[in-house]
Amino acid sequence: MALDYTLAPISPDTADVLRAGGGERYIADTNPGYPCRQCLLDAEVGEVLLLVSHDPFTIDSPYRARSPIFLHEQPCTPAATSARLPEQLTSRQLSVRAFDGNAMMVDAAVIDGADLDALLQRFFDDSSTVEVHVHNATRGCWATSVVR
Ligand SMILES: [Zn+2]
Repeated sequence: MALDYTLAPISPDTADVLRAGGGERYIADTNPGYPCRQCLLDAEVGEVLLLVSHDPFTIDSPYRARSPIFLHEQPCTPAATSARLPEQLTSRQLSVRAFDGNAMMVDAAVIDGADLDALLQRFFDDSSTVEVHVHNATRGCWATSVVR
């Protein structure tokens, strides 16, 4: 069953720019534990990642900020964006923030990832919500944006 909204993870072009800029290099020593934000998969043990800083906002607002994210060091396959929510999201505690067209916050919640689908549907029921940002609740990493 397709999702009622569309995941908008980091674009491959943006990911490649961040890779080229370098970052802190990590070798995954546990799985899960190193969630890549391009393929939306947790790295397998032994895979190499870069920890970089990414700004998911496209316009300025008081909420605009960069977040830490992991990327596979080598370009990886972009995640499917409308088929299903990845386990990387549904298995973690999440901070979920809804924004309007001016990048002002409409609503926000901290949830168990298993409840993400229901929360996204509720946030998008509000016609002022144009984009939702999903972050890991504990470490604050941006995971993906979600659009209608
Ligand atoms: Zn990846």
